[in-house]
Formats: sequence, structure tokens, C-alpha cells
Amino acid sequence: MSDSQNEVLNIAALKASLKQFAVDREWEQFHSPKNLSMALSVEASELLEIFQWMKEEDSWDISDPKLIEAVGDEVADIFVYLLRLATVLNLDLKELVDQKMLKNGKKYPVAKARGNSKKYTEFSD
Ligand SMILES: [Mg+2]
Repeated sequence: MSDSQNEVLNIAALKASLKQFAVDREWEQFHSPKNLSMALSVEASELLEIFQWMKEEDSWDISDPKLIEAVGDEVADIFVYLLRLATVLNLDLKELVDQKMLKNGKKYPVAKARGNSKKYTEFSD
């Protein structure tokens, strides 16, 4: 594990750095919630494209340096746009994740969800 993976992620500093990157290039004018949402979806699709026709079992092996770089680039792009969206909408990501995981815990109680991939709407009572 590299040193950077052991650091605590400072979301506020990262958001500020990404904001400055946009300010320096006068790109804030393009960073509407609509545009950032679309960019986030495009980047997620670029990640999907990497794995699109790969056999399921092969998707576990990304030891090829070019593949690692490609996956890493798209993961970073996704994270960057997510952080920019959270910034322009003034969203508290920690609070949102905490709230959503509480909802998910209610939708997917361990007793019903353990070991299966059904959507909660398919659970029987
Ligand atoms: Mg990309």
C-alpha cells in the first residue's frame, strides 16, 4: 500500500484544489449542476467501456500497467466531477453518505439481503 493510501482523505482541501483548478482556467462558468452531472455520467461510462467486453473473471485482474492506469484515470475523473458537483451545490458528502447508508440499511436488512443481490423491492415479507 502506498503512502498516499494511508493518508486521511481531506475532502475540503481536495474540493478547494479542484475549485482553484477551475477558477484558474475560468471554467466555473461551465460547472453548472447539469453539466457536472453529465460529465460524471460520461466518466462513469468511460470506466464501463474499459470493462465492457471483458470476461467477468478477467475483470478481477487489472495487473497490466496500461489497464491500471486507464481504470485509475476514470476513477479519478469520476471522483473529481463528484467533488465539483458537491462543491457547486454545497453538499455535505459525509452527511449525505451517512444518511444514505442509514436508508440503505433499512432497505437492505442483513437478514434479507445477506448473500443475495436482489433489489429491496423484490424481498418477500
Ligand atoms: Mg475520463
